[in-house]
Amino acid sequence: MNLHEYQARAILARHHIPVPPSRVARSPEEAEAAAREIGGEVVIKAQVHAGGRGKAGGVKLANSPVGARETAAQILGMTIKGLDVRQVLVAPAADIRREFYLGFVLDRSEQSVVMMSSAEGGIDIEEVAARTPERILRIHADPVVGFQPYQGRDAAFQLGLTGPHVRQFAQITTKLYNVFTQNDASLVEINPLAEVADGELQALDVKMTIDDSALYRHPELAALRDRSQEDPGEARAGEAGISYIKLDGEIGCMVNGAGLAMATMDTISQYGGRPANFLDIGGGAKQEQVTTALNIILSEPNVRAVLINIFGGITRCDMVARGILAALEGVERRAPMVVRLVGTNEDEGRRILEGANLAAATSLAEAAETAVRLARAEA
Ligand code: GDP
Ligand code: MN
Repeated sequence: MNLHEYQARAILARHHIPVPPSRVARSPEEAEAAAREIGGEVVIKAQVHAGGRGKAGGVKLANSPVGARETAAQILGMTIKGLDVRQVLVAPAADIRREFYLGFVLDRSEQSVVMMSSAEGGIDIEEVAARTPERILRIHADPVVGFQPYQGRDAAFQLGLTGPHVRQFAQITTKLYNVFTQNDASLVEINPLAEVADGELQALDVKMTIDDSALYRHPELAALRDRSQEDPGEARAGEAGISYIKLDGEIGCMVNGAGLAMATMDTISQYGGRPANFLDIGGGAKQEQVTTALNIILSEPNVRAVLINIFGGITRCDMVARGILAALEGVERRAPMVVRLVGTNEDEGRRILEGANLAAATSLAEAAETAVRLARAEA
């Protein structure tokens, strides 16, 4: 789950990382009032779950309250990377001398958390990472003792920081590591970590992603969720308790169980197709969940065929079949489908689906081959 910048800023501030004060505005008038309270030049920033807001015109300076209102009106009407801007952050404009990048992310291959930092922070950090990866410093945290203060100082020296900046940078690094671990984040990054005119290092932009599987132990973070910023399919699936993964192929997959999902996708690939997504209804799914799942799959425009692969254990095949029928009654768009139902009550399940004009398959290979053929015929 992603947090908005203003939410992440508040968390960093609680950890005593230097973050300039800011306000959130949901209308141009609120932005004007915020700018008046802050006084002087302000920066107005779109709050969306997307990076690259600066390049998209979603970060602008305004030098008066009226200017802030006009700028906010512009930004509040924008769509950035498909996301509606519904709120803006208003903060005192910083006088930036240098921009650093500082982040912590999970490094799965090393099985530890890694600090990443660069003296070339700011809006082109992706390009720096792609073209000159040697300019991004990586230091792993020990899983037992955590990120150590000496590692922060070492990083500061390697980035070319001197004087009081070394200590400031090291302290921010240690605190940011605590933010990462204490909130079960999978990513937290400050970009830019800016050296401002008075010489202080300040976090001027923060991104933070929380591990969904850990949200149950952070109700205060779960409450920060903004569904308007999520993919509609993923949001619907989340509410129905189904896991939904979007991919970029053409065959929609409904399965029960993550292992079965992997096997299904592998088999589709083996027959030359590509999965558009997979929806795991899990064990013991209810009929309504099956209906919701199929509706989500059919609402994805890139889905050309659907493969339903259910291994009935606790989940009964007849119940899945009824869920499929119920979904087909309500949907506007249909795609060709192939269904493989095996296990508990499979005969009854197949009987229910007779006459529904669905291809039936008994083996996974046959189901995948049929799905690939049906998808090609639709292309
Ligand atoms: P992003 O593009 O989504 O990463 O949004 P940022 O908040 O990082 O803003 C993009 C860029 O705008 C930053 O890298 C800065 O160069 C610039 N910027 C952001 N805030 C300020 C500010 O207060 N003053 C000035 N002068 N520039 C700013
Ligand atoms: Mn940024």
